[in-house]
Amino acid sequence: MLRQCANVNIRALAGRNAARWERNMRFTIVFALAVLGLMAGLHKPASAQAAKSGLDKLYVINCGEGHATDKSRWSPGIDVGQPFDVVDNCYLMHHVQGGWFLWDTGVVDTVADMPNGAGGENGAPTWRKPKKLSAALAEIGVKPSDVRYVAISHTHPDHIGNVELFPQATLLVQKAEYEWPLPSGASRFKPEHPVQKLEGDDDVFGDGSAVILSTPGHTPGHQSLMVTLPKTGTVILSGDAVHFKSNWDNRRVPGTNFDKEKTLASMQRIADLMAQKHAQLWMNHDKAQAETIKFEPAFYE
Ligand SMILES: [Zn+2]
Repeated sequence: MLRQCANVNIRALAGRNAARWERNMRFTIVFALAVLGLMAGLHKPASAQAAKSGLDKLYVINCGEGHATDKSRWSPGIDVGQPFDVVDNCYLMHHVQGGWFLWDTGVVDTVADMPNGAGGENGAPTWRKPKKLSAALAEIGVKPSDVRYVAISHTHPDHIGNVELFPQATLLVQKAEYEWPLPSGASRFKPEHPVQKLEGDDDVFGDGSAVILSTPGHTPGHQSLMVTLPKTGTVILSGDAVHFKSNWDNRRVPGTNFDKEKTLASMQRIADLMAQKHAQLWMNHDKAQAETIKFEPAFYE
C-alpha cells in the first residue's frame, strides 16, 4: 500500500522533471557559450539532473554457468551441433529511498555443491555454479532479509532457483506468469510467498529508475527490466526476451518458446525503447557480452 501511495506523488514529480530537463537542455545548447555564467546560476547541469535517479548501485552477480551441446536449441536450423556456453546473471540494485531490489535469482544454490553440475536433459544446458547467490550477497554486505523486492523475468529454473531465499520479499511477477501452471498442474510459486501480480509494466520505485517491462513470448508472462543509473545511463536487462547477440541481430527465436509472434513483438518493443532512451541491452545469457561487464563486488552507479 505504501508503495502504491508513494508512486502517485513521485510519478507526478517525475513527469515534471522530465519536461524541465528537456527545456533546460534546449536552453543550454542555444545559450551555453554566450551566457555560461548566467546559465550556471539558473539551470541545473545535466549531471545534477541525472543524479535524481534514486538507484545508486547495480551489482551483476554470476548466478550460474551453463554448457549445452547444441546451440541450435536457441536458433533452429542455425549452428546445429555446435557446443555452446551460456552465463546466467542476477542483478542486485539499491535504491536510496526504496532499499534493495533483486532482478532474477538464477540457478538454485544447491547446484554449487554438485561437482558435476545439474541439468543437461533433452539438450538443455548442464549448469554449474561457481558461487552461491547467498555468498555473493554476503560479499556485498546484504542479508537476504534486507531484500525488499524480488522480480523474476520468468519462471524457468535458471531464473527462479533462489526465490525462496527471500521468503519475506515481495515478488513482482506478471499475473500471466504466476498463474501459468507447471506441466504437472502444480503452481510455480509457494502460495504463502508475498506477491504483487502485475498486468503490464510497473515502475518499481515510482521514479522511473527501475521499470518492469511486459515482454511476453518466451513465456506467457515474461518481463524485462529497464534500469536508469546516474552515471551508467539506461540499461535494459533482457531476461530471456533474447538470449545472445546473434539471435538479437537476426531476430531469431529459440525452439523452446511459448509464442513466437509475441517474442518478436517484445524484441521490437525493446529495440524501440533502446532507441528512445539511448539504452544499452544486457543479454542475460550472452557469455561474450558478460566478459565486457563488471561483476560483484564491483558495481555500476
Ligand atoms: Zn528461459
